[in-house]
Amino acid sequence: MTIQKANGIADLFRPMEKRFLDLWLELVRAESPSSNKECVDKVGQIVKAFAEEICFSHRTVPFEKAGDGIVIEYNNGSKEAPVLLGAHMDTVFAVGEFGENPVRQEGSILYGPGVHDCKSGIILGLTTLYLLKQSGYADRPVKLMLSPDEERSNTFSGQAGRDFIRHEASSSFCAFNLDGGYEEKFVVSRFGITRNNFVIKGIPAHAGVFYDKGRSAIKEAAHKIIELEKETCLERMTFNCGTITGGTVTNVVPEHCTVGIDTRFRDADALKQAQAILRRIADTVFVEGTTCTLEQVSYRPCMSETPASLKLAELYMACHKAVTGKDITPTGGNRGGSDASNMAETGLPTIDTVGIIGSLYHTKLEWADSSTLLPRAEILTQTIHNLPKSF
Ligand SMILES: [Zn+2]
Repeated sequence: MTIQKANGIADLFRPMEKRFLDLWLELVRAESPSSNKECVDKVGQIVKAFAEEICFSHRTVPFEKAGDGIVIEYNNGSKEAPVLLGAHMDTVFAVGEFGENPVRQEGSILYGPGVHDCKSGIILGLTTLYLLKQSGYADRPVKLMLSPDEERSNTFSGQAGRDFIRHEASSSFCAFNLDGGYEEKFVVSRFGITRNNFVIKGIPAHAGVFYDKGRSAIKEAAHKIIELEKETCLERMTFNCGTITGGTVTNVVPEHCTVGIDTRFRDADALKQAQAILRRIADTVFVEGTTCTLEQVSYRPCMSETPASLKLAELYMACHKAVTGKDITPTGGNRGGSDASNMAETGLPTIDTVGIIGSLYHTKLEWADSSTLLPRAEILTQTIHNLPKSF
């Protein structure tokens, strides 16, 4: 694939380099656990103030229990369908977990809570908008959507949070999710995630005198767990019985047991099969006299590659090669979750994990390499300049 490379992108970046770096550190210092609305809103305020400084408009989508959703917009006078950039403002860490000064810098490597996942994505999005503007891009609007509780699969923003992402996605032309990236690969498809409970009811009885009258909910759960986890097929679907609660004391045959199940599925077909397996095992009685209800707790769709998303991936690979001289490989079947799944569910051509390079996210050793901000922003800028009229 040949592309038309816009020249001088690095020169446009240099005068703003320190400003972007300072902003990144400011965002990391603004610790923002998903559950703390006030903290996540602080991140949104910092981003909005910066957007005003560089003359971008913004919108706020309020949520009651989660931080507010934010959209930063460039060129929104254009009637064309926008390009969507996605990142999230929350982190998995509690405030204070990293001590008094949570940010550390060694050469180009930055350390801190969320420095890679996903404060780097916010910075990359803002830098890309800036470079598009400075390089005169005017084909389509470009918007950076920041979600408030990605790390908890919209637990706090709820269906409204999922609708926010889906609404922004459904009117767009294509999407790039800016979650922290890898040097050699990016993501074109992901497993979906559904969380369910087996709620099992048995018959309680004295564990000695009336042992034979009791029907153990825990014994039933044990059979179900073994039966369910047997069905795992790494390439297609996984079942993890991650929590189990039940029983009261050891000398009573247990009446109640609840098993929490995390199910990940490759595609819609695998989801259908996984649901049938869950239903079958919920309905199979191993300990006569027990009953079981199957409850759904949460749902995140899978992200499937499509001919259009693969075309977008091909363009991204060509621009990566043009900017860095190196190849990058699209990968499928990632079993982690991200907001990209909600974007792709609307049919939007989406590629994921095209962010700044770093690693060890969700641990205290999380790091990001700030020297990869410019190349990653330039790859996105070149890709957007080269987007086709249609997919
Ligand atoms: Zn994460």
